Amino acid sequence: MPKKSIIAGNWKMNLTLTEVHDFFQQLSLPPQCPHKIILAPQAPLIPIVTNHVQKLPISVAAQNCSFEKKGAFTGEVSAEVLASLGVEYVILGHSERRQYFAENEDLLSKKIRQCLESKLSVIYCIGETLTERNSGQLQNVLKRQLTCLTEFSQSNQWEQLILAYEPVWAIGTGQVASLEQVQEVHQFIQSTFKDSYPHVNLPPILYGGSVNALNAQDLFTLPAVAGFLVGGASLKPKDFSTILSVQ
Ligand code: PEP
Repeated sequence: MPKKSIIAGNWKMNLTLTEVHDFFQQLSLPPQCPHKIILAPQAPLIPIVTNHVQKLPISVAAQNCSFEKKGAFTGEVSAEVLASLGVEYVILGHSERRQYFAENEDLLSKKIRQCLESKLSVIYCIGETLTERNSGQLQNVLKRQLTCLTEFSQSNQWEQLILAYEPVWAIGTGQVASLEQVQEVHQFIQSTFKDSYPHVNLPPILYGGSVNALNAQDLFTLPAVAGFLVGGASLKPKDFSTILSVQ
């Protein structure tokens, strides 16, 4: 039986309005694509992308949302407003947000709560830096990053959670983790979940970090990989289509 899989493209702070129109002109989806496809544009372009995907099997994600419901938080975007625009997913915990915006587990659990309450699914990213890996901290770092999910394990919102394992050293570097490294970490996350939350279903675990048109098929064959979070290669319609054709 083919696995239920998700392939999400994180455009980060890339693609102008014109480039978004060009992207959809050039995108050709593989026929009967078995994957749930998600695209995450910059926030102001969400309505444009929602419009483009109206007749396509593509869902829209936001790259961030506020930790508060509403109010005097200049510059923030609420989960409620994202949901009203047709957004279905929010990427949270991305290493770039952890690194450049000092997002920690306390803040992220508030953001996750806002999303779940607005019926948005969360793609929650975790991953270690090279220094953390080389100093034997990998498992501790992942366990710490996973702590902010605990409060949701008793609720029926649990099913709205998706994980993305993204080793920081593999993001945007072209240095993809080896198949053994990916399988090993995904299995570690699975067993951590089974120990910590024995009563709930295991969330899908995506891999992210320099996934491209050439390495996607091999990575997808790993049993513990439920799909991908793709950065750079999701900006190129031809490469993204090739990634979408993995099976
Ligand atoms: C990402 O930003 O989530 C990512 C995985 O980027 P890239 O594919 O470019 O490494």
